[in-house]
Formats: sequence, C-alpha cells, structure tokens
Amino acid sequence: MLLLRHLHKTYDNGVHATNDVSLDIPTGLFGLLGPNGAGKSSLMRTIATLQTPDSGSIHLDGVDVLRAPLALRRRLGYLPQDFGVYPKVSALELLDHFAVLKGLTRRGERKEAVEALLHQTNLWEARKRAVASYSGGMRQRFGIAQALLGAPRLVIVDEPTAGLDPDERNRLLNLLARIGEKVIVILSTHIVEDVTDLCARMAIIGKGRVLVEGEPQAAIATL
Ligand code: ADP
Ligand code: ADP
Repeated sequence: MLLLRHLHKTYDNGVHATNDVSLDIPTGLFGLLGPNGAGKSSLMRTIATLQTPDSGSIHLDGVDVLRAPLALRRRLGYLPQDFGVYPKVSALELLDHFAVLKGLTRRGERKEAVEALLHQTNLWEARKRAVASYSGGMRQRFGIAQALLGAPRLVIVDEPTAGLDPDERNRLLNLLARIGEKVIVILSTHIVEDVTDLCARMAIIGKGRVLVEGEPQAAIATL
C-alpha cells in the first residue's frame, strides 16, 4: 500500500501544484484523472522522489519514502510522459543495458529478465529492431518493459495513452492491468475512459487537489 498524507508542493513561480493531497493507493491499477495543468505530473514526480514536497509524508508498505528515497528508487519503475530520444539501438540491447544499470549484473539472470519482459510486452518479434523505428504504441510498451526491470513494487506511468490509436491503447491498458495484479500501478491521464475501462480505483485531480477518490464509476458520477 502507498499512503500519501497532506502533500504540498509550491514551485518557485508560486504555482501550488500539489495542495494537501492524501491518498491510499493499494495494489492494482490506480488512475489519476485531470486536465492538463491539474498537477498529475507534479504529484508523480514527488512520489518518485524526483522532487521534494514542501510538507507531507509518503509511505510505501510502511517505509517512509522521504526518509529513505534510495530504498524507494530500487522498488520503483517510472515512465515519464516524454521519455526521451529513441536511439538506433535494438530493444534487446537497450533493455540489457538498462538492466545492468538496475543492478542485474549477472548475465544469465539479466538475459532471463529481459527476455521475459520482451514477451510480456509483446515486443519479442521486434526485439532486434531499433527502438527509433517503433510505432508510438510499441515505444510505450518498450518504456513499460524498461520500467519493469528489477521487479518494482510501484510503477508510475505518465499519460501513456497519449497519441495512441484505439488498438494500441487497449493493448497498453491491458498490459498495465495485468501488471497491476501484483504491483501498485499509478496511471495519469486526461481521458475518462482510460480510468473507467480498467482502473480499480481512481482520483480526480484539479488545481493540485484531490476532488474525488474511489471506484471509477462512482467517482465519475459525482462530477
Ligand atoms: P499535469 O501533469 O496535470 O498536466 P503538472 O503537474 O505538470 O500538471 O503542472 C501543474 C502546475 O504546475 C501547472 O500550472 C504547471 O505549469 C506547473 N508546473 C509544473 N512543473 C513546474 C515547474 N517545474 N516549475 C514551475 N511550475 C511548474
Ligand atoms: P506534463 O505535461 O507531463 O505535465 P509538463 O510539460 O508540464 O509535463 O512539464 C515538463 C517539464 O517542464 C517538467 O520538468 C516540469 O517541471 C517543467 N515545467 C512545467 N511547467 C513549468 C512552468 N510553469 N515553469 C517551469 N517549469 C515547468
């Protein structure tokens, strides 16, 4: 369980991007729904310990994340919205490289982990192709494979369905739902159907605040 309590974050420009956010996030697919600028990315960056909140607390399975950020990062998979340039290197080589960085230093263990992830994300057939040549949906799935290296307890994905066609979107959401059977998956989106289709729980974010929290159908009905 991920527990957020009274989180606040104000940027130097005075924007109060996270305003008294408290949430209980269990294992499963959890949706953060809100329009652009609502504060979804800010909250996700704070949870991922990429920035420090002004006040409040974060506990993952009882561990105080703000006091032990390194322990959190070892158990975290984080996929930002625009996760960078796509090199002319194959998915297989790239994943192997990231696996080393994640601490999978033993060759056999690494090979096994990378191959399992390529199968899980349906990229096995395309594993030898340059990631630069991938479609948007394939890139997202590659990003998720990368985020899953090291068997994280918590996976954070920022607007993963943006720009995907309906087929690719469904594939991606189904993949995330399967991952959510075992780990905490936080998915941000501005598309209502992304959360109503597959998320077990959700929060609606507006101007940095949690407006509603609960099961998607019930939460949406209050709007
Ligand atoms: P969302 O992910 O929902 O689009 P963001 O968390 O990116 O929302 O942004 C919330 C608000 O905080 C916006 O007004 C945005 O401009 C502002 N903001 C985000 N990041 C920064 C930053 N690093 N410095 C200043 N303001 C920021
Ligand atoms: P997203 O669309 O995922 O919410 P943004 O485009 O808002 O992301 O932010 C991308 C980057 O720009 C982030 O590092 C964020 O901190 C920064 N940023 C966003 N808004 C502002 C702002 N108003 N002033 C300064 N930096 C910002």
